[in-house]
Amino acid sequence: FLTLTNIQKSFGPVKVVHDFDMTIDKGEFVSFLGPSGCGKTTILRMIAGFEVPTGGSIVIDNRDQGNLKPNQRNIGMVFQAYALFPNMNVHQNVAFGLKVAGKRKAEIDARVKEMLSLIKLEHLADRYPYQMSGGQQQRVALARALAPMPQVLLLDEPLSALDAKIRVSLREEIRLIQQKLGITTVFVTHDQEEALSISDRIVVMNAGRADQIGTPFEIYNKPTTRFVASFV
Ligand code: ATP
Repeated sequence: FLTLTNIQKSFGPVKVVHDFDMTIDKGEFVSFLGPSGCGKTTILRMIAGFEVPTGGSIVIDNRDQGNLKPNQRNIGMVFQAYALFPNMNVHQNVAFGLKVAGKRKAEIDARVKEMLSLIKLEHLADRYPYQMSGGQQQRVALARALAPMPQVLLLDEPLSALDAKIRVSLREEIRLIQQKLGITTVFVTHDQEEALSISDRIVVMNAGRADQIGTPFEIYNKPTTRFVASFV
């Protein structure tokens, strides 16, 4: 469904992603796991269109994304934290992408309601970001990303700014929502336990290369490289 073929990325003379190949199935939850600087965020940003690959192609649902700007791609994204529009309340944040897409008010209101019910925050529709906890803000960010019904959901360390207890409950909630909607999801994390607990498959990245791609069971029990064995 989402095919990355021979993806490469250099910044000036420095190659940060080497010949990356992978096909992600429709509805699959794939995590990119690796230490800081291994290139995982760069791959996510290329899928979103924020970075242009130096080589290779990205195809989503048979459509080459190469000539599409970020706003022309059918993608939802959640960032590390504090990425809600601070001057908009919850309803307005979630409605944003639908407004940009030119949807009618009645349709927007219905969809926002549905999204807020999905993340169980119907009662906070009038709150502003500064009036909510970090975990609540990230749930709103998830609702905002999902509201326009994107083809692919990209999650860039969405839990890393939260405290440990919230992190575990929110990752379970994200996984439930992802499965309920059947949305193809790419998740970037440096947290081994997080990747092992939430994913259908994990890509372990090491210095710009995929060291191993496998199910959590395979990655944990049958590491194929010394790096994967020590990192995971
Ligand atoms: P982190 O978890 O720290 O974000 P990462 O695995 O996501 O790490 P990337 O952010 O993808 O790593 O970065 C990979 C490498 O590319 C790093 O060495 C980084 O310094 C470099 N890099 C990323 N963006 C740029 C840029 N715009 N210009 C130059 N170098 C960059």
